[in-house]
Amino acid sequence: MNKFAVFGNPIAHSLSPTIHQMFAEQYSLPISYEKIGPDENDFENALSTFFDDADAVGCNVTAPFKGRALQQADTLNKAAELAGAVNTLYKKDRRLQGFNTDGIGLVADINNQGVELADKKVLLIGAGGAARGAVHPLLEAGVKALAITNRTMERATQICEEVSVSHCIALDKPGLMSFDADIIINSTSASLHNQLPDLQYISFVKCELAYDMAYSKDPTLFMAYAEKEGATMSADGLGMLVEQAAAAFTIWTEKLPQTRPVIDKLRQR
Ligand code: NDP
Repeated sequence: MNKFAVFGNPIAHSLSPTIHQMFAEQYSLPISYEKIGPDENDFENALSTFFDDADAVGCNVTAPFKGRALQQADTLNKAAELAGAVNTLYKKDRRLQGFNTDGIGLVADINNQGVELADKKVLLIGAGGAARGAVHPLLEAGVKALAITNRTMERATQICEEVSVSHCIALDKPGLMSFDADIIINSTSASLHNQLPDLQYISFVKCELAYDMAYSKDPTLFMAYAEKEGATMSADGLGMLVEQAAAAFTIWTEKLPQTRPVIDKLRQR
């Protein structure tokens, strides 16, 4: 039986095993998918033990190990390179291929909302790992302009310098006031602490979608704020989670699982 796993710490609440089992059921594929929560110092050992098993095909990696997973990969896709983080590993011909599918998941879920990214002005709030993973897929989706802002502006500037295309710009307070974004994405971890990032210079009046990468049973503070300030609609990151998992599943199995029934089922929990 093909073996898969997700590595992270804490890992107890991860939805990844449930999501991947649902994908596998769509194709009647028998798989095992376990949660592995190594101690801080034991990630590399645990990963190597997992892949020593001849049946081990691939794994997902979540916080805090995504940067260290990148160090373990023999090859990287473009999104992983720019993100400096790997969330999917695939063992092929004894080599570990590293991918970052978070941004692919984000783009797919924005499309799930009926929103196109091509020729849109997108504002990305936050410049951590998730933001880094999103930048390359957003640019690939053909956005007209991608502005990045962050509590620590140097990190936003650094990303734009690395990307080095004229339509990816770091914006601080004065610039934000006149940006008029069509799509505003919260990639900060503020929602996890039931907080808002600083939004006072950001206008939601022309915003057709306010997207929070965090997810919870109830709308996040960011979603509620955005709609109150004029955003046409808002969404949380549950669909992104399922879509990034689907992209990983495709890498491992070459199959394209249906995501909608999985998202709907998780919403009912
Ligand atoms: P990181 O720790 O790498 O980055 C955190 C970011 O949030 C930084 O830009 C940080 O700013 C900013 N931040 C944190 N607290 C605040 C605050 N109170 N006000 C303003 N900015 C703040 O985290 P990740 O990038 O890995 O994750 C970010 C979010 O994305 C999390 O909510 C995570 O759950 C979500 N996520 C969702 C996924 C999905 O599939 N739905 C996948 C991956 C992530 P600074 O640089 O100044 O510290």
